[in-house]
Amino acid sequence: MKLVNAEIITVGDEILYGQILDTNSQWISKELDAIGIKAIRKTTVPDVEADILESFEQAGNRADIILITGGLGPTSDDLTKPCLASFFDCELILSKPALKDLQKIFDKLGREITETNRQQAYLPEKCTMISNRVGTASGMWFQENGKVYVSMPGVPHEMKIMMTEQILPKLQSVFQTPVIYHKLIKTIGIGESWLADKISSWEHQLPDHIKLAYMPGLGEVRLRLTAIGKDLVRLQEDVADQVKRLQLLAGEFIYGFDKDTLPMVIGRSLTSKGLTISTAESCSGGSVAKSLTSTSGSSRYFTGSVIAYHNRIKETLLGVKPETLINFGAVSEETVIEMAENVRTNLKTDIGLATSGIAGPDGGSEEKPVGTIWVACADHQKTVTKKLSLYKDRCANIELTTQAVLNLLRQRLAEMDGEKA
Ligand code: ATP
Repeated sequence: MKLVNAEIITVGDEILYGQILDTNSQWISKELDAIGIKAIRKTTVPDVEADILESFEQAGNRADIILITGGLGPTSDDLTKPCLASFFDCELILSKPALKDLQKIFDKLGREITETNRQQAYLPEKCTMISNRVGTASGMWFQENGKVYVSMPGVPHEMKIMMTEQILPKLQSVFQTPVIYHKLIKTIGIGESWLADKISSWEHQLPDHIKLAYMPGLGEVRLRLTAIGKDLVRLQEDVADQVKRLQLLAGEFIYGFDKDTLPMVIGRSLTSKGLTISTAESCSGGSVAKSLTSTSGSSRYFTGSVIAYHNRIKETLLGVKPETLINFGAVSEETVIEMAENVRTNLKTDIGLATSGIAGPDGGSEEKPVGTIWVACADHQKTVTKKLSLYKDRCANIELTTQAVLNLLRQRLAEMDGEKA
């Protein structure tokens, strides 16, 4: 099935000056994607006639559908409407339905329509008027030579109501659109290029209607599978089959899908096992506890945290031995093991997590440079640890430490599943 393409044009100097963020095009892209229309380009143009006309021309050479927002107000810098009249070579004429809409709005306000506002009811002769029930600028629909141009107000809530109630259904009736189905696969603990090498055989056997995209982020890589076809159920089955194959190659790194987050996945696993958890945090300063409690229902498994920043707190509240701190230092495997094991005992939980490291950007030594971080996860059977060699960026180090200790926990929980089986 041929893909239907769309381009989005947002009009307005204020977007180019950075005074407002173009949220319209992002929202429109998502809505188009949901009905199987592919957005292929977004353009922002200034309130300048020549630029607006050029953008109409160029977008029409590439796309089937051109969606335009902004520049429909009654003031002299609002040029979209005269530009559309010129582009479609027609006059602006009084639209009775547009005037009726305007009358309704002004009646509600208990005010007379001004001459400036009356001008808003003049629309290009060749357009079909699209009603705006919450604002004064009507939308416009042009259909010529298989192309559709739609102009909408810039005000986001006016545009959204118009799109949802009228334009999206109309586009679906005019164009035969395929179904687009996305699946996000979330991995942690492996870099993008290593992952690409590991799964290259799988990537090469993907059928033509399923495309793969790598979406790397801080500490994790998301894979997006996009399947295009006619039948949603069939696409979902095809993708599920490919996910199964991928799991055989890289299952240990996959922590979740779609809207899953690492704390969410961990929370589900702890709840189903009936396990409780506490944290002892030095360099992460409470970030692990914050992350674990970001999920609703976390009180079922999370009991508390000791932020043991100073060695005195590590000794007094967590019972880390003074000789451990003297002989190995606060940033060491020995210390982090005692922190994890003792927080578990002191707070009476099944699992204890711990972090200790040099978050930077200052501090560190030749032996333990900035970014040297130890994390540990202790339970009734064993304690596992990991050394991280991170960067000079404090915020990134805290974020990556949090992810690393949560990933250690995730791996341990998966191991417990294996032990049970
Ligand atoms: P109206 O006639 O209903 O005022 P308009 O079509 O004239 O709408 P603009 O004057 O271009 O729209 O924009 C009105 C307001 O809408 C802007 O000041 C801004 O707050 C918001 N807006 C415009 N374009 C965008 C966009 N692309 N993303 C988010 N907000 C936008």
